[in-house]
Amino acid sequence: MNHNIHKTDIRSLSLDELKNRFLALGEKAFRANQVYEWLWKKSAFSFDEMSNLSKPLREKLNELFVINAVQVNTSQFSADKTIKNTFILHDKHLIEGVLIPTTERMTACVSSQVGCSLTCKFCATGYMERKRNLNADEIYDQVVLIDKQAKEHYGIPLSNIVYMGMGEPLLNYSNVLKSIDRITAEDGLNMSYKRITVSTAGIAKMIKKLGDDDVKFNLALSLHAANDSKRNEIMPINEQNSLAALAEALKYYFAKTKNPVTYEYIIFNNFNDELEDAKELARFCKHVPCKVNIIEYNPIAFADFMNAAVDKTEIFANYLKKQGIITNIRRSRGKDIDAACGQLAVKEENK
Ligand code: SF4
Repeated sequence: MNHNIHKTDIRSLSLDELKNRFLALGEKAFRANQVYEWLWKKSAFSFDEMSNLSKPLREKLNELFVINAVQVNTSQFSADKTIKNTFILHDKHLIEGVLIPTTERMTACVSSQVGCSLTCKFCATGYMERKRNLNADEIYDQVVLIDKQAKEHYGIPLSNIVYMGMGEPLLNYSNVLKSIDRITAEDGLNMSYKRITVSTAGIAKMIKKLGDDDVKFNLALSLHAANDSKRNEIMPINEQNSLAALAEALKYYFAKTKNPVTYEYIIFNNFNDELEDAKELARFCKHVPCKVNIIEYNPIAFADFMNAAVDKTEIFANYLKKQGIITNIRRSRGKDIDAACGQLAVKEENK
């Protein structure tokens, strides 16, 4: 029997809600502040760590509440210093999160859902079923744990966070935004919005909602083809969210937020690596201020795609640059441990 079943997940409560619960228990409101600080600023994963609370209070908290902390299940270390983690959730689901160190950055790539309901053909997660959304604190915990790892192994805290792990962040909209509130809050990790990027496969309605909410973090769109028939082929979500619909949503988003957009473009051999594809992409880039990241592909076992040739990738990137588009080629990281983009998948049946 699960003894935690009737306990409240303490991190689902706002500070005000926590204060009210404390007052109802006959505790002083400032105790709620202390607990809140332990939970969010000091990332305590148990009540026993809360050393400035009395033992009876800690016992009472243990009886009434639970901290559904995410824990590292396994970590794999790549030769290029990338660390891929499998995290275990309180209900035993597994998700993945990656630490990607480069000379300028320490980036955490975090998951927003267990599995994914979209079925992008090149993505290992797309072959898993979506089990559930992550709560805001489960997203936050991944950041905290990867930050600890960055300090422990490389002596440097996280500088950047990307929501590019498992799942479609905009289909778990409110939890993703709440997690970003905690990451940026002064009583949370106090990180800058500018260091956070949410990456979407392209849900036009939700891109507009980001505009309405005037978000301050960065938005990346996984474009991969600037031609509807090609994009339909690899990203079925494009059938309901055509390039025209996405362009309209992006214009709306940009008008509201004034944030430029990043287009992610995985370059596949003999699929989207011709000059004609670059021309289509350059045309799409005219809609809003943007930059392009061209990403080297990592083949996965069950998809037919291969990575494009290096010289073709260069020609493609140079064309975009000549059109005045800021273009970077992103070499793949963590390939030897399947931590690279599109390779995250946990075999839940093995757990
Ligand atoms: S690329 Fe992203 S949206 Fe597409 S299936 Fe994979 S995890 Fe889901």
